[in-house]
Amino acid sequence: MHAPHPDSQHFKLPPDVQEFCDMAKRVVRDELLPLEQQFMSSPNQAYGQPEIMMIRRVFPGAVAERLEKISRDTGLWYMMVPEEYGGPGLSMLAQVAVMEQLMYSAVPLPMASVGNILYECKGDQIERFLKPVIAGAKTTAFGQTEPNAGSDPGGMMQTRAVRRNAKWVINGTKMWMSNADDCDFVMLQAVTDPEKRQRGGITMFLVDRKNPGMKVRAGIPTWLGTTPKQHIVDFEDCEVPDEDVLGEVGKGFTLGQQWLTIHDRLLRGPYALGKMQRALDMSVDWAKQRVTFGKPLSERQAIQWHLVDMYVDIQALRSMTYEMAARADSGEDVRTEAALIKLCAGEWGARCLDHAIQVHGAMGETLELPLSMFYRYLRHAQIGGGTNEIQKMLIARKLLK
Ligand SMILES: Cc1cc2nc3c(=O)[nH]c(=O)nc-3n(C[C@H](O)[C@H](O)[C@H](O)COP(=O)(O)OP(=O)(O)OC[C@H]3O[C@@H](n4cnc5c(N)ncnc54)[C@H](O)[C@@H]3O)c2cc1C
Repeated sequence: MHAPHPDSQHFKLPPDVQEFCDMAKRVVRDELLPLEQQFMSSPNQAYGQPEIMMIRRVFPGAVAERLEKISRDTGLWYMMVPEEYGGPGLSMLAQVAVMEQLMYSAVPLPMASVGNILYECKGDQIERFLKPVIAGAKTTAFGQTEPNAGSDPGGMMQTRAVRRNAKWVINGTKMWMSNADDCDFVMLQAVTDPEKRQRGGITMFLVDRKNPGMKVRAGIPTWLGTTPKQHIVDFEDCEVPDEDVLGEVGKGFTLGQQWLTIHDRLLRGPYALGKMQRALDMSVDWAKQRVTFGKPLSERQAIQWHLVDMYVDIQALRSMTYEMAARADSGEDVRTEAALIKLCAGEWGARCLDHAIQVHGAMGETLELPLSMFYRYLRHAQIGGGTNEIQKMLIARKLLK
């Protein structure tokens, strides 16, 4: 059994944040890692589900309840929730540092899975949508991508919302929507002004999963899990009242970008780091104990170089991620820097796991170890939420401005 390596944190964190990180580390070591085998062999674990859903699906009631209680009692449940809604109001730096610790395990800790843009909820939306998500009573999905609109959603989006009888009526098809079948509502983008499109012509709607105009097709199988959790979703004369517009009419594309900047770019840093550090710790242990030709692997330079290459990527990504988080805390616009983190987390993350699999030989390919699962997740990070090429496009824009 591997425990989080003491070397997994070099950045000097404020004492209260460090304390929170240490506590997260203990939860990972004592509660999550012992459940990993059971988790990985379950047909019910699938990429793209909120943590709470996954835990309730995979483990018997008592185990799921225990993890949920630990998460709430330690405050980890609320770690990303602002103070006004009962959270600790952690800085982005603190969130990143704690998240890195939690990502060390393949087993996710159930916690409030609130997309940052949901804090745009106003009036009774707060009671109907936001608070139940914070409490873990409701889950969401995010609907931007379409069959012909992936990398260029602003320019190519076809899903339309028009006014009819004092309501919005939505028609169109979304694709790859994670958690669409199980969610309670979708944060859905639709074109409301085809002339303006991403510059004031796309609106974000909160669409109830039970809306008769929303039809979820069977999941699309991928290499990310045995139960497919990404869906094609059809909206057919789907009626949504004015009260269920999130933010302002026409500002939905900007909201979507806010979601992607934090949820799908900056936070990809700690998601990758936890797994990369775990892979390195496992590889060091393995190299020391596996003997070939009369010597442990750790004494072979070829193997040492795999370890060093992993270490270099981890150190570089960690420095970059923590610095960007600190800059976000100081109020800087880090949209481009978040793209940089996403790019590096995906590329370096996948190659780091590739090294780890090589060091482990055949064992690296088994489903007994979490390495191949981590590899698939980190390889996916080069596509989901905006591909590497799109991140490079965003970075180039800043360079050439
Ligand atoms: C597991 C999974 C979960 C997902 N979950 C969601 C979700 O919950 N909600 C949601 O809305 N979407 C979701 N997506 C969709 C995801 O965000 C898109 O797949 C992604 O943005 C890429 O779009 P695409 O697949 O259409 O690729 P395309 O846009 O067709 O691109 C294909 C290739 O061409 C490259 N390319 C495109 N344009 C350019 C260019 N101008 N210059 C250079 N290269 C270019 C791309 O980088 C890519 O390599 C998910 C996808 C997956 C696989």
